[in-house]
Amino acid sequence: MTFDDLGLAQPLLRAVHEQGYDTPTPIQQQAIPAVLAGGDLLAGAQTGTGKTAGFTLPLLHRLNAGEPVKDAKGRPAIRALILTPTRELAAQVEESVRTYGKYLSLTSMVMFGGVGMGPQVDRLRRGVDILVATPGRLLDHHQQGTLDLSRVQYFVLDEADRMLDMGFVHDIKKVLAIIPKNKQSLLFSATFSDEIKALADKLLNKPQVIEV
Ligand code: AMP
Repeated sequence: MTFDDLGLAQPLLRAVHEQGYDTPTPIQQQAIPAVLAGGDLLAGAQTGTGKTAGFTLPLLHRLNAGEPVKDAKGRPAIRALILTPTRELAAQVEESVRTYGKYLSLTSMVMFGGVGMGPQVDRLRRGVDILVATPGRLLDHHQQGTLDLSRVQYFVLDEADRMLDMGFVHDIKKVLAIIPKNKQSLLFSATFSDEIKALADKLLNKPQVIEV
């Protein structure tokens, strides 16, 4: 199987080929068609399996194929929210979004704690299609009224097991309460504890389950 067989749009394939990738990894072979089909996904995958491209490529495809959503001032509204446990991972995921999305006209932003809120507020004001964030700072912005998550259509929890290990379970539940119920959700985790299963039950609607 090659990337060309997966149903991704040409501008995405061009970016993938520029990275020098020919063959999708096992998680990509399963996750990409599953996400393109529009359903929820529960994926068991470790770092290093290519999971990031496994969700960013089909999400970019769907965002690009869908209608742009604008806020009241005509700026792009956040349509995709990706949560990660750490700032390093958030930065890496957003870098992947930029790399694979370089031939599309979607905008992205990364948001994490430990740095000033001001520049993040300025960036949010300009509008963004895809937000990659750590949970604490995301909620800080929401409480401050500088973040509108009412138009989210795609939600990803990356490294969910690490998020729970780091004590983010309440933050995740708060985030779930402030984003729309009707959305496509993807949960990635290296392990499946009872706590992860409970979170998956709460978040996902008849998910396709894949493990590599
Ligand atoms: P990840 O598991 O998402 O952290 O990805 C691990 C590494 O594999 C990253 O450095 C990617 O750039 C690389 N990678 C992702 N997909 C492929 C692929 N299909 N072929 C070769 N390398 C890949």
